[in-house]
Amino acid sequence: MTERAAGAEERAFEAEVGRILHIVANSLYSEREIFLRELVSNASDACDRLRYAALTEPGLTADDPDLKVKVRADGKARTLTVADNGIGMNHDELVADLGTIARSGTSAFVERLSGDAAKDVALIGQFGVGFYSSFMVADNVEVVSRKAGEAEAWRWQSDGKGTFTVAPAEGDAPRGTTVTLHLRKDAKEFLEPARLRRIIATYSDHIALPIVLDSEGKEETVNAAQALWTRPRKEITPDQYKEFYHHVGDVLDEPWLTIHNRVEGKIEYTNLIFVPSTRPFDLFHPDRKPHLRLYVKRVFITGDCEGLLPGYLRFVYGIVDSEDMPLNISREMLQKNPVVARIRSGLTKRVIGALERKAKKDADDYAAFWDNFGAVLKEGVYEDPGNRERLLELCRFRSTAGDRLVSLADYVERMKDGQDAIYTISGDAVETVSRSPQLEAFRARGVEVLLLTDPVDEFWIPEIGGYKEKPFRSVTRGGIDLSEIAEEKKQGEDEEPAPESAIDNLIALFRLTLKDAVKDVRESKRLTDSAVCLVADEGDIDMHLERLLKQHQRLTQTTSRVLELNPRHPLIKTLAGLVSEKGAAADLEDAAHLLLDQARIVEGETPPDHTAFARRLAAVMQKGLGA
Ligand code: ADP
Ligand code: MG
Repeated sequence: MTERAAGAEERAFEAEVGRILHIVANSLYSEREIFLRELVSNASDACDRLRYAALTEPGLTADDPDLKVKVRADGKARTLTVADNGIGMNHDELVADLGTIARSGTSAFVERLSGDAAKDVALIGQFGVGFYSSFMVADNVEVVSRKAGEAEAWRWQSDGKGTFTVAPAEGDAPRGTTVTLHLRKDAKEFLEPARLRRIIATYSDHIALPIVLDSEGKEETVNAAQALWTRPRKEITPDQYKEFYHHVGDVLDEPWLTIHNRVEGKIEYTNLIFVPSTRPFDLFHPDRKPHLRLYVKRVFITGDCEGLLPGYLRFVYGIVDSEDMPLNISREMLQKNPVVARIRSGLTKRVIGALERKAKKDADDYAAFWDNFGAVLKEGVYEDPGNRERLLELCRFRSTAGDRLVSLADYVERMKDGQDAIYTISGDAVETVSRSPQLEAFRARGVEVLLLTDPVDEFWIPEIGGYKEKPFRSVTRGGIDLSEIAEEKKQGEDEEPAPESAIDNLIALFRLTLKDAVKDVRESKRLTDSAVCLVADEGDIDMHLERLLKQHQRLTQTTSRVLELNPRHPLIKTLAGLVSEKGAAADLEDAAHLLLDQARIVEGETPPDHTAFARRLAAVMQKGLGA
């Protein structure tokens, strides 16, 4: 076993890393072999980064130009070593990279931890824990590393139980990083060359560097060592695509869509890109890492080339390999590079085209994509006018017509005679918004309403205004008039409205009572079952948008609403009858306040004066019960 080197400094892992290590070391996770994929993946990334650095500083690789990864098993010592001659880590990098949570996948893992051992172990497979997965098979891990261009080498060591040490490495360490795993007794299987060969073939065949297996002094290269995207499509198996996707995407699900092709002509490039089958946890994080890597003539340039795809396609992972850019292009120069802009436009069209084919071929399969990424794709409708038409056709919606997703084309085809607008209602969730009273008259006439529950809908809908000359109209706003459309469903027996004059009197009384609490009180054309509802006045901000902006502290003032009364509702009819009766004033005033509060509650808001609400409700109940 290794001993604590003289002069080593001991440090504690970041608290979250400590938790991860505890779970990893005590887990009975059945696919422990993935630790090797993680180590080889890190080694390959380190070589990519060195190759890029050497473009501007060729001296970095001069003494040892053939980048590769070596995997060595030593049966006697029961150690497994993964060594690379890549970029290496200096003292500070060792401390930061192997002592804290560096990668997004790992922080997602920590966020999801539940404390339930079985559930938490399953998460390892979902997110991967990178370097720390070594402790699934090793009870002690040593990392010796020398950074390219630096003289000093460092030795990191840990038993994964809360602390690690870093000390100067003794002797002459080669450039790059050597990770030595002191395997646990129950992990001896990872010393068998056949097993190692199989694991590497499964997970790392796509790696563009040679992976050399060294057992008992015999060396063999066990992978194809050719960048996967340079091989012809028909020679690549689905599993190989999948492993490559895992490598570049830092994810472990199945790709939902794989697009691999070579573009020739004025500009030349190859793309191998994927759309995931699950929604990444950080899709809406402002500081999320892009997952599209840029290569130039097979040389890795950068993992975060901003302009390669528009933001609304940020769920696309993979690589682009350009033939037209200079190898020594700097990350800063990339921002203004015209080739990047052309690739972006080509890739965007290709992704949209592939989505169109998927949507046409299998609606259910497309629905799965839509549930994951629809909210992001919709950003394109207002951000990318050039592709707006095609993106609109790709949009899907929940609607009052049933559980299936509908397209705008479906909607327009089903519009009723006399219907001149595409009706929408916005809210936080389909379940609540679909029960809104404002939908009643639409239901009665069989008029479909789109249920909008993504915050982005508040932006693109007003931006584009309509589809195929049909304007979008919110059912919670302004004067909705459906009188041109025939009713399908007969309302209950009580379909006679209260006399016009009685309703007018009631409305006048409500106005006087409620004063500034409402903008106006009006007779409703959109209610059939409920007594009252709130709507935004024509031209005022939509109620849902207002709530949304307030939640995000983007708005402080409140716009007052219009209270609508349903003249056919028995309660409203009774109240209308009471207006002309003596001594009913107090009851009518209580009713006005209570009905307004009720309408607020249905909107998901709370009555502003809880005490007054409770007092009035108690008074009315008492009367009703004759108490
Ligand atoms: P990820 O690879 O997703 O960033 P890991 O936990 O696998 O997460 O590794 C953490 C970090 O440690 C890497 O980002 C890298 O900076 C550093 N690292 C790990 N292995 C190596 C290596 N072989 N050479 C250089 N740096 C490495
Ligand atoms: Mg890694």
